[in-house]
Amino acid sequence: MSPPNFVTRFAPSPTGHLHRGHAFSALTAFEAARANRGRFILRIEDIDATRCRAEYEAAIYDDLAWLGLAWEQPVRRQSQHMADYAAALRDLSERGLTYRCFRTRREVAEAIESAPHGTMEAFRGAPLPAHEEAARVEAGEAYAWRLSLDAAHRALSGFAHLTFEEHGEGPAGENGVVQARPELGGDVVLARKDVGVAYHLAVVVDDALQGVTQVIRGRDLFEATHVQRLLQALLALPTPCYRHHRLLAGPDGKRYAKRDQAQTLRTLRASGMTANGLRGDLGF
Ligand code: GLU
Repeated sequence: MSPPNFVTRFAPSPTGHLHRGHAFSALTAFEAARANRGRFILRIEDIDATRCRAEYEAAIYDDLAWLGLAWEQPVRRQSQHMADYAAALRDLSERGLTYRCFRTRREVAEAIESAPHGTMEAFRGAPLPAHEEAARVEAGEAYAWRLSLDAAHRALSGFAHLTFEEHGEGPAGENGVVQARPELGGDVVLARKDVGVAYHLAVVVDDALQGVTQVIRGRDLFEATHVQRLLQALLALPTPCYRHHRLLAGPDGKRYAKRDQAQTLRTLRASGMTANGLRGDLGF
């Protein structure tokens, strides 16, 4: 038997130009795929139509090609696959694992603050009484769908023993077999009021659909893995291995963000930097 395939991905959201941090992340995944004779996939995470722009998506292709990366075609663009996420949400909802949440952001923040352990607590809610919920739906009030951790706990006998394999490092040095602790994130939103799906659900569905075996991404997403592992279990999807890499910081010690115009690949290129120069700078 041939060894299991190595399939990894880079999954940017086209909400701004790619910066040095993105280049590091994309190169880490790309070079890992190459070293393992695996596959490298580019996925465009553009579910949020209000923040994503076609020009940023075009710039992603252009910047990554400049950097010397090659990826499989066609590229999966999440905005074209909303039906896949809706099906997963329906599956969870039909099993009583979700509830409608009508709260505004401010109401959620207030609920967290008044929780027994203060702001350390992630949001936990519950479905409204059926008649109240029906009336609010009828009145056309907007709602998000949240995952109910209580319901998930009841539905999944192995809830307390879910683990994932970390080949990189979490923020506290986590490595190897890591216990998944979805309670840290609370009842996450699975479908936003405005968008109809949310990050965790889309990522889990896509990683499985695309056969991703290694999720290589920045350490800022380590915490997201806890609930993503739970969603994989609830949806009976395979669990990839994870490799969370360090985050690059600028001279001021702060990590790069979309607001750092000076460090976008566009700007670096315009200022005469070569792709090889940047790869060298980033340790490749
Ligand atoms: N789209 C996410 C981002 O831009 C990355 C998602 C992931 O790698 O799981 O940060």
